[in-house]
Amino acid sequence: MKTSTLGATGLQVSRLGFGASPLGNEFATEDPAECTSAVHCAIDLGINLFDVSPYYGRTLAETRLGAALEGKRERVVLATKVGRYGVSDFDFSAGRIFASVDESLTRLRTDYVDLLQAHDIEFGDLHQIIGETIPALREIQRQGKARFIGITGYQLGTLCAAGADIDTVLSYCRYNLLISDLDSELGALSEEHMWGLINASPLHMGLLTDTGPPAWHPAPANVKQAAARAAALCRSRGLSIAEVALQYCLEYPRAASTLTGMATVEHVRANVRAENTSADPALLAAVQAELAAVQNQTWPCGRPENRDYAQTV
Ligand code: NAD
Repeated sequence: MKTSTLGATGLQVSRLGFGASPLGNEFATEDPAECTSAVHCAIDLGINLFDVSPYYGRTLAETRLGAALEGKRERVVLATKVGRYGVSDFDFSAGRIFASVDESLTRLRTDYVDLLQAHDIEFGDLHQIIGETIPALREIQRQGKARFIGITGYQLGTLCAAGADIDTVLSYCRYNLLISDLDSELGALSEEHMWGLINASPLHMGLLTDTGPPAWHPAPANVKQAAARAAALCRSRGLSIAEVALQYCLEYPRAASTLTGMATVEHVRANVRAENTSADPALLAAVQAELAAVQNQTWPCGRPENRDYAQTV
């Protein structure tokens, strides 16, 4: 497993990171024992970055991950979040954040996390994020409960605007086979400020898989249809679109790590295999041609004033 330095934090993180939202049954109902095996398999195969949130499964993912990491905590770079607790339940106030990190540490069975991130900041008031949330995260860092701090979200402009005093940025569904606008401004800013850049959802939250997207997936119908055609194309050549999509993202040099959601040993093994190989150029070109007409489509997310540009749906 290749590793990269996570911006100015100096943390060495695996190029392929373990996204733990599926441990909270966000995509499907998972078997708890299999979740534990997936975490252990990932560590054995060299994955060290694990990303979770109290939001995933409304604390279930943290609880499962904490149990699976028992005795292995020191082998991983552990990232969790504060500020999001439900589909529409956000609280970025300092008071809630101080309580939230303590609750997360209990569930994760540790006394510190390596990275504590404000979760989906486009749902908050940007003035509060900058003036209250980020300073609270720094205070938690001073207390030794988090080694580094960061922000996460979908709206690229909000992430750029909130980045005055952070160590890392996690962006999702903005750099993969369906979209590339992460690279235009946020990618460059991250390099300039030495923010550790984490690229999440390389499978566009399950869209670029043979199973297809979960019912709640917000992408427009034409994007879903094109992804299904690209998946069929890969299948006809005996390959999975997930592997091609992941290989593509893992070659993005500005991201220190690409986070994929996993809850089974089979997916961990397949994704580590993708990390060890490159996509067949002819197949990649054919997939990209299939997806060309639906590039860079986004969906509404967060407060209207925090949105990047007129949304496509
Ligand atoms: P993803 O694009 O990684 O897709 C996950 C889906 O793909 C799941 O259904 C998973 O079971 C499936 N999958 C994984 N490997 C597969 C394989 N080899 N073959 C077939 N299917 C496979 O989307 P994601 O999980 O949303 O993103 C990854 C992680 O990034 C999350 O788990 C989370 O940790 C993080 N994330 C953070 C934010 C945020 O902070 N706002 C948002 C999105 C994602």
